[in-house]
Amino acid sequence: MMKEKYPRCLVLSVNNQILSITPWIRAINLSEKRKNDVIVLSWYDDYKIHSESKTFKIPAVIKLNYYVKLQRKKMEQNFNAPTLKNILVRDNFTCQYCGKKISFRNATRDHVIPLSHGGKNSIDNVVSSCHECNFLKGNLSLEEFERKYHRHLINKPRPLTDEEKIKILIKFFKNKEKKIWLKSLKKEGIDLW
Ligand SMILES: [Zn+2]
Repeated sequence: MMKEKYPRCLVLSVNNQILSITPWIRAINLSEKRKNDVIVLSWYDDYKIHSESKTFKIPAVIKLNYYVKLQRKKMEQNFNAPTLKNILVRDNFTCQYCGKKISFRNATRDHVIPLSHGGKNSIDNVVSSCHECNFLKGNLSLEEFERKYHRHLINKPRPLTDEEKIKILIKFFKNKEKKIWLKSLKKEGIDLW
């Protein structure tokens, strides 16, 4: 199908927030017919659509010239919360104690410093864990757990990177899209809250 052959376009609001992902055909229409309403921040160099009279480039990132209200604060809170979605994406769907692949269905959240030891329920203290590791760790400190079971914390928990935030916002994206989107956002100095 034509639709899947070509990459999609990332749409930003006037205040640099991600609004949506739009198919190439709508992106071209926006850039052609609503020149006053949109700014094309970057184009895909490798894709061109040829009509009888004209050749069209596909916009990779466009910015709307008008204000669309978004709940920025809510987004910020969402990315800083140690939700299963956030930590699974960050930890690459891997148990951080035994390295087993896990999914939404069989993953748990584990507090590296247990809550009972004064650990916080924050993204830099929560990791993805399989049921078994979570059960074994229980209320043990990381040192006790590592000594007792010879399983070691793979990656120290940390806040999400921009790329991970995009991944979460835009559940599925292709590599050819991701590269140019991130480059364009960076070039524009856009923070992904
Ligand atoms: Zn495990």
